[in-house]
Amino acid sequence: MSERINLIWLEGQDCAGCTISVKQASNPTLIDVLAGALPPLRGLYLVYHPTLMFEWGDDAARVIVDAIDGRYDPFVMILEGAIPDERRAGDGVFCVIGEYEGNVLKLDEIVERLAKRCAAAVAVGTCASYGGVPHGNPNPTGARGLLDFLGKGWKGALGLPVICVPGCPPRADNIIQTLGHAVLAARGVSPPPELDEMHRPRSLYGATAHELCSICGFYSGGTDAHAFGERGCLGALGCKGIITNCNASSSWMDGYGGCTETGVPCFGCAHPDFPDPPTSPFFAKAPASAFVKETFAGTVGHIKMGLARLRRRKI
Ligand code: SF4
Ligand code: SF4
Repeated sequence: MSERINLIWLEGQDCAGCTISVKQASNPTLIDVLAGALPPLRGLYLVYHPTLMFEWGDDAARVIVDAIDGRYDPFVMILEGAIPDERRAGDGVFCVIGEYEGNVLKLDEIVERLAKRCAAAVAVGTCASYGGVPHGNPNPTGARGLLDFLGKGWKGALGLPVICVPGCPPRADNIIQTLGHAVLAARGVSPPPELDEMHRPRSLYGATAHELCSICGFYSGGTDAHAFGERGCLGALGCKGIITNCNASSSWMDGYGGCTETGVPCFGCAHPDFPDPPTSPFFAKAPASAFVKETFAGTVGHIKMGLARLRRRKI
C-alpha cells in the first residue's frame, strides 16, 4: 500500500505558475500529501523539483542522471512548461535544465530518456499539455506539449497514457487530485482516471467553464455586463467559458474565487489552442457558433424541463 513512489517534477519553458498554484492546493494540501497524512497516498517522495527542492547544482542534476539509470524507480514524471524543438536552435540551445560533470542537460533529451522508464507521465499546465504560451504564434522555438512530444499512443510502465492537467495555471486541486488519482491507480486502490480525447481527466474537465459558471443565471436571464464591474454575464467582454472545458469558473480553492465569480472573463487558458484563436483576442467575443449551439441546446432543454414540471408528479 505504501510502497515508495518518487515524483520527478521538471520545469521546461515555464513561468513556475503551476508550482505556485499547486502550493495552494487545499483538498488535500501538498504538505498533507508529502508528509504522509493521507494513508493511501503515503510513500510519495518529491525527489526532484527545481523550485522546491533543497539540493542545487550537481547534487540536483545527479537526481536526474540517477533516475535515467533506474535508481529512482518507480517514479512519476511531472512536466511543467513546454518542450522546445532544439533542432531550430542552431549552435545554441533553447532549454537546459541543468549541467552535470560539464554536460548540459537539455530538456527534450531528459524527457525522452525519463519517458522510457517512468511509471506515468503527467503534464501540468497548458504549456506542458499542449504547448501553451511558448507555443503561441509565431512559436519561434517550435515549442510543444508533452502529449505531442511523446504522442497520443505513448504509455508509461503502468499502462497509462500522458495525463494532461491544463490551465494557466491549473486550479491547484486539479493538479493534486490528478496526481493522487494516478498514484491510487498505481497502487490498485482505484481505477485509472478516465481521460477525454485531449487526455484530460473527465472528472475534472468534463464540463465547460460556462456550464459550471456561478453567474450563469445572468446569461440565462439575458443580462450582459458591458463594462468591467457591471453585474451580468461576461460574454460581451470576451468570456471564453463557453468553449473551454474547465472547473475553475465558480471556485478556485475551498469554495473561494473562481475566474468569472470574481468578475473576470474566462480567457480560455485551459483550452488546447490557448493563447491562439479561438481564445484570443482575449477581449473579443467567443465564436458565434458556440453561442448558437448553446442557445439551441438551451431552448430545447428549457422546453423539456418546462414540460416535465407540468406533468403530474409520481412518487
Ligand atoms: S459567458 Fe462567461 S460569464 Fe457568461 S455565463 Fe458563460 S462562463 Fe459565465
Ligand atoms: S475558468 Fe477560464 S480563465 Fe479561469 S482557469 Fe478556467 S479556463 Fe482559465
